[in-house]
Amino acid sequence: MKVTDSARLLDERLRVFNHLEEAGEPGKGRLSGYYVSVKDNLCVRGMPATAGSKILEGYVPPFDATAVTRCRAEGAYILGKTTMDEFGFGTFNVNTPYKVPLNPHDAERCTGGSSGGAAALTASAGFPHVALAESTGGSISCPAAFCGVVGVTPTYGRVSRWGLIDYANSLDKVGCMAKTVGEAALTLSVIAGPDAYDSTTIREPAPDYTTYVGEGLEGLRVGVPREYYGEGVDPGVADRVWTAVKRLESLGAAVQEVSLPHTGVSLSSYYVIAMAEASTNLARYSGLRHGLQGPLEGGFDEYFSSVRSAGFGEEAKRRIILGTYARMAGYRDAYYLKALRVRTLVIGDFKQAFREVDVLAAPTMPVVAPRFDEIALLEPVQHYMMDVLTVAPNLAGVPMVSVPCGMLDGLPVGLHLMADHMREDLLFRAAGALEAG
Ligand code: GLN
Repeated sequence: MKVTDSARLLDERLRVFNHLEEAGEPGKGRLSGYYVSVKDNLCVRGMPATAGSKILEGYVPPFDATAVTRCRAEGAYILGKTTMDEFGFGTFNVNTPYKVPLNPHDAERCTGGSSGGAAALTASAGFPHVALAESTGGSISCPAAFCGVVGVTPTYGRVSRWGLIDYANSLDKVGCMAKTVGEAALTLSVIAGPDAYDSTTIREPAPDYTTYVGEGLEGLRVGVPREYYGEGVDPGVADRVWTAVKRLESLGAAVQEVSLPHTGVSLSSYYVIAMAEASTNLARYSGLRHGLQGPLEGGFDEYFSSVRSAGFGEEAKRRIILGTYARMAGYRDAYYLKALRVRTLVIGDFKQAFREVDVLAAPTMPVVAPRFDEIALLEPVQHYMMDVLTVAPNLAGVPMVSVPCGMLDGLPVGLHLMADHMREDLLFRAAGALEAG
C-alpha cells in the first residue's frame, strides 16, 4: 500500500472514531487533495504525540490542535507526525531519542531543527503536501533553509497554539512549510486567525494571503541589516543571498542598508528567556498524569526523579538546570530580568528598521546544512551560536519567511525575509516575486 493510501485510510478511521463534526469533507475545501504532516509537538486526536521526548511516550491526545482542526475543515488529510528535536531544543534535529532525519540533498547532513522531519518531508514528498510546524527561536526557518523549502513563521499570536506542547510560551509560534510560496500562503490562510481556545491569539481575522503572491514589487522598500552579513557567515551563502537581494531590486524593490544594533546580544537574551520558560514548562512531566511512568516505589521525590531522569534527554536536562538557575532568587535580576530588558531593545531595533523599510532580507542560516560528523564535534554553546541570525526576529515576534535562494555545492541556501508585526502580506509578496524570478 502506498504511504498516501494508508494515510487516507488512517485519516478516514480517525474521522469516524472521533466524530469530527468540524472536519470538512475530503475533496472539498481549500486544502482538498493535500496531505498535511504535523510536527510532533502538535496534538492530533488518536495519534501519539511525543514532542520528540521519551517522557511523553505513550501519550495519545484526545483532541486536535486548532491548526489541525482547521486543515481538516478545509478538506486536508492528516498524514502523520514528523520528528523533531526533543521539545524543540535544537538546531540540527540530532537531539532526539528517536530516528534522526536525514537531509534529502545529502544523507550525511542534518535537516536542521527543530522541525527537521517537517522540512525533510516537505522537500521530498512526491505528492501534494504541506507541513504544520512550530518555531520558538528559528525552528521553522532553519530546517526550511537547510532542506530548500519555504518556511513561514507568522507573527506571535497570529496562529492559535491550542494543542501545542509548549517550549517557551512568550516565544512559541505555530507556522507551516511548503514547496512553494503559494502553498505556504494558502496554509497560513487556513490556520491563522483568532481562536476562542487560545486567548493569546490576535483578534483580527486572517486575510487570504495567496492574493499577495504574484503582486509586483514596485515601491517595496527592502532593508539589508548590516549586522547579518558579518563574520561567521559563509561567503558562499552571503553571495547567494546578495544575488537574491539584487533580483528583488531588479524586480522593482528599493534596497537600502539598515542597522539592527542589538543583534549581537540577542542570542544570549534568547537562550536565557527560552530556557527559563522551558524549565517551568517541563516541571509538569512527573510521570503521573500522562506519558512515561515508572514502578511506583519510594516517595514522590524519588519517583519524580527516577521518571524524569529516564525520560528527558541530555539537552532537556541541561536546559532545566540552566533555566532554573536563571530564575533563582539572587540570579533573577542578573540573568532573567536583564534578558527581558535586552529583548525590549531588540524589539526596538525592528520597530526602528520598519520605519525605514518594509521588509528585511538576510541569510536565514550562516552556513549550509552541516554534516553529522561536524556536528558531533560541536560544544552545546556552538549549537546555540548557529541561531545567531534567527533568534532576534523570534524574540521580537515579527513574522518571517525563509525562501530558497540558490544552491551552494549542491546544498540549498535560504533567504530570510522579515516584516513588521502582522505584515505577512509583504513577505508573501517578496517571496512570491523571488520564486517567480
Ligand atoms: N535552536 C533554537 C533552540 O534550541 C530554536 C528552537 C525552536 O525554535 N524550537 O532553542
